[in-house]
Amino acid sequence: MAVDLSSTGSALSVAGLPIAFVTAFAHVLLKPRRRGRTRWRTAWRVMLSRHIWLHPSTLLDVQYVMVGAFAFSALFGYTLLTGYGVSNGVCDGLTRLLGAHAAPTQLPFYAKGLIIFGLYMVIELAYWLDHFLSHKIAFLWEFHKVHHSATVLTPFANWRVHPVDTIVYMNILSILAGSASGLIQYFAGDAFSLTSTAISGVLCALYMALWGHLQHSQFWISCTGLAGRIFLSPAHHQIHHSRNPIHFDKNFGASLALWDWLFCTLHIPQRHNEHIRFGTEGDAHLKRLIPSVLYPFHFAAKRLFAMLPLGNAASKAADPMPVVNPAACTLATAATDKRGRESERAGKGSRRAERASVTATGVSD
Ligand SMILES: [Zn+2]
Ligand SMILES: [Zn+2]
Repeated sequence: MAVDLSSTGSALSVAGLPIAFVTAFAHVLLKPRRRGRTRWRTAWRVMLSRHIWLHPSTLLDVQYVMVGAFAFSALFGYTLLTGYGVSNGVCDGLTRLLGAHAAPTQLPFYAKGLIIFGLYMVIELAYWLDHFLSHKIAFLWEFHKVHHSATVLTPFANWRVHPVDTIVYMNILSILAGSASGLIQYFAGDAFSLTSTAISGVLCALYMALWGHLQHSQFWISCTGLAGRIFLSPAHHQIHHSRNPIHFDKNFGASLALWDWLFCTLHIPQRHNEHIRFGTEGDAHLKRLIPSVLYPFHFAAKRLFAMLPLGNAASKAADPMPVVNPAACTLATAATDKRGRESERAGKGSRRAERASVTATGVSD
């Protein structure tokens, strides 16, 4: 799923791309390496690698940016609930149920902070839930698979999203964030509800500019240990896009790892580059723009039919839905940590033998 807390089509999000580029450049330039600092010229060569930016997968992403962000967004007005409408509905419902509530004239600073943080957590939960459903419900996966078909990750992959995928997400977001906003509106008043929504939006846009765009990038920027349980780094999201089955259905969140940690879908990356391969297997229709928009409807209809009671039992058996095993959660997290620690120890020992950290295609870090 694209990291799309603020809409990728929004001007703020697009404006954040140069800031993300500068952040990535600083990462390449300043990260300590065995053979000293990376030189400016090498850093430029890595950042502007033709292999990455002219790769067919990246060029398809650019088509999604140009066509998707503008043409698809015209459809969304007809298909979306609005967070504002849900918020008003929840507030009116509470007023009918509990009676009018006199909003406090002045809220203490900590209460404002808690409310804004709470709203941010609800937005994160909406993202996690939508993303989880997109992976676990077979017919939704056909639409979401478009995003996962990118074989090279650049910030443009953020826009490679099927319109149905976006519509489902925006409706889930409207229901959850709109309901939270309605509660704030009822208890804290209209003005603060609007302020907290605006501040949450600004935080999301800032996040996109400084960090979110890099979730899709060729750079291994990782949060490990406790930080890896709280924040989702670009390496977390690279694991989410991995073709390795041990990484399937992990790291569904947008910016925080907390919901993944709570729901046992967290996989903490190792500190050093795991050299992951991206993309999906055998989906020729996802290599060009128009087939990648049209064919998912056909495949999703087949999946939907297979889910119905009258559906083909054979096709159901061929496509069993994965099951999250809560009992395995603690063990899995512990195993991830253990692997990470072992790898870190091995990394320290073998760093002398580590190959040159800058390759022709990118930075090995
Ligand atoms: Zn996904
Ligand atoms: Zn993604």
